[in-house]
Amino acid sequence: MDPFLLAGARETADATIPVLDKHRGTPLAEVARADAGHFDRALRAADGARSAMASLRPDERAGVLEQARSRLGERRDALVELLVAEGGKPVRAARVEVDRTLTTFAVSAREALAAADEPVSLGDASGQARGYAARVRRVPIGVAGFITPFNFPLNLVAHKVAPAVAAGCPFVLKPASSTPLSALAIGEALLDAGLPEGAFSVLPARGPVAEVLGTDDRVRKLSFTGSDAVGWRLAQLAWRKRVTLELGGNAAVVVDGTADLDDAAARITNAAFGQAGQSCISVQRIVATADVADALRERLVERAREVRAGDPRDEETLVGPMINEREAERVLAWVDEAVAGGATVLAGGERDGAVVQATLLEGAAPGSRVLDDEVFGPVATLVRVPDFEAALREVNRSRYGLQAGVFTADRSRAARAFDVLEVGGVVIGDVPTWRAEAMPYGGVKDSGVGREGPRYAIEALTEPRLLVERT
Ligand code: NAD
Repeated sequence: MDPFLLAGARETADATIPVLDKHRGTPLAEVARADAGHFDRALRAADGARSAMASLRPDERAGVLEQARSRLGERRDALVELLVAEGGKPVRAARVEVDRTLTTFAVSAREALAAADEPVSLGDASGQARGYAARVRRVPIGVAGFITPFNFPLNLVAHKVAPAVAAGCPFVLKPASSTPLSALAIGEALLDAGLPEGAFSVLPARGPVAEVLGTDDRVRKLSFTGSDAVGWRLAQLAWRKRVTLELGGNAAVVVDGTADLDDAAARITNAAFGQAGQSCISVQRIVATADVADALRERLVERAREVRAGDPRDEETLVGPMINEREAERVLAWVDEAVAGGATVLAGGERDGAVVQATLLEGAAPGSRVLDDEVFGPVATLVRVPDFEAALREVNRSRYGLQAGVFTADRSRAARAFDVLEVGGVVIGDVPTWRAEAMPYGGVKDSGVGREGPRYAIEALTEPRLLVERT
């Protein structure tokens, strides 16, 4: 049995979670499964570590993060194999995720060092503040509760854990049950890295057991990444806490008549089908203006048909298995439903076990799930619109709003898109799937609340404390 990490120490339990190799279907590990009692002990330890964590100097926090980063870096090849095995992630995508994880730690270390009191301008129109000076310090909020999804099991854990260390917050993290090994690898890298006793726990568990992170008063901040159904429910339970929700999406990309179509088609193909579309900012809706829709369609069909699906250990594979076969069945049921409603399959549309072919559709009726819900699979739908303004309206016709991509060479259209798109981020000249670790990342509408990216996550894990001095 692989142990979990409770209060900074390895521990086993009576129950386990089986972890499978997602492509081979073979057992990979049996991981200790935490119950309510383990969470209680973890929270007690984290609560007890609050002041020790808060007392770490910025250079000490950065030192912990650098130490963890270098340990993870030494294990790079093993971590790539782990992502391929437990996540079914194609090996090229797995390498990118490991490198991004190292960057997340590096950026968090840099942010830890940048912490400093900020002077406050008191404004003196009435004369009331004359003779006073003020500054603000960001102080750690206290214990953080983290819940993470399966699709980036390493880097999305890093995006919670590394800012928590930088901010000085003890934490308890529950990783996705299908991919707990990556989170435990990050926990292992933090062992003996200089954190106070009991400061952190990584506890694989059944979902509902982790609801305590939303209800327990010792947790001051809940940060959840996952589906909107689970996220909003947890936010309701956590009504007394600060909450960050990084939820799903049905990201759109706009292509207009001024775009380089070969470049757009190549990028869209990767972003729609890469890692089987199991990314919250995977391209799901391809919105093309009428003047280029046919030409773009031709290029997309050609590329989609060439996409390699199957063995994630094959260097050429873009589409690996979905997280389980049930998900693959669901995705094809949505495709069938769209076809019954009038859509045409331009490429793909079939599956072999958990592997769904890169599937391109057009003509789906508004309201069909492939357009309006989150497919979270290798399925994208081409949508024709008369002009650029209609394209922007189409992007906004969604209950989600994470990121949007716009391929246009027209600067005024780019500016217009930035003005009106209801999303957390607009990417001009590339797909909505583009992300750098340091940027603010998160959504509006059903895509969530709050932002990640170390600087923004640290802000959400700290409270401003004001000092006023009569001078
Ligand atoms: P999920 O919502 O099923 O699970 C997410 C986590 O919540 C898992 O650890 C799960 O065990 C846990 N969970 C489930 N029920 C729970 C409960 N009642 N109480 C507490 N925890 C519970 O999501 P998933 O299938 O793992 O991940 C896919 C989803 O995540 C997609 O919707 C995707 O868009 C979203 N996602 C969002 C982002 C982002 O940054 N916005 C990034 C990656 C994934």
